[in-house]
Amino acid sequence: MLVVITFIVWFYSGKTFGLTDIEGVEAGTHIRLSENIQLDSYADKISFIAEPIKQNTTIDVLLINDENPLPRGYLPVDLINLYEQRNRHFQLAKSDISICRVVFEAMDSMFCVAQIDGVDGFIITSGYRTFEEQSELYFTRADGTAARPGTSEHETGLAFDVTAMGDANFALTPQFEWLSQNCGEYGFILRYLDGAEGITGTPYEPWHYRYVGLPYSKTIMDDGITLEEYLSR
Ligand SMILES: [Zn+2]
Repeated sequence: MLVVITFIVWFYSGKTFGLTDIEGVEAGTHIRLSENIQLDSYADKISFIAEPIKQNTTIDVLLINDENPLPRGYLPVDLINLYEQRNRHFQLAKSDISICRVVFEAMDSMFCVAQIDGVDGFIITSGYRTFEEQSELYFTRADGTAARPGTSEHETGLAFDVTAMGDANFALTPQFEWLSQNCGEYGFILRYLDGAEGITGTPYEPWHYRYVGLPYSKTIMDDGITLEEYLSR
């Protein structure tokens, strides 16, 4: 509780952990970040050093993980509210979920084909999160599964979480089976593979899909590898 209160005081006093804003980095710019973070206390200074992404990739294959955080103030381009997209082929757990337009278009095509294949009932539970929203999750989620603020793919607007109607274990549903087999065709990857925590830093998440675009998604899913492994090839 004390931590939460302290965080709120810091945040609203504008101190925001002493994160260094990255000058001259526009939203949507190709960036790769290295960091030097003292996590013992959030009162300690956290500094990010930005360097250009080495590989010739698009923003969609931006690598975000514990070692590659986003710069403070990173704002994705072209975010749209999913509830306002009237003819979509999936459902929403709430009305305030946003995502990048390119991601929406890809996911809607994907879920449209799933419907044609007879697999329906996908429910999107999460999309874009602000740094502040991720911070709140990080400090309040009791099971410790929330990523550190600045290191969640949800802060890029390129990832969504999904579930299926009436089923607590998404990994056992026909929806998961269809999605994990077909998402690569539509620009998406199952980001946190079973047994790959040592590489991604994140336990298996059958519900979390990340847009990386074609042809990267197809290669990654066909080869059954993580984004980290693909980018280090
Ligand atoms: Zn997620």
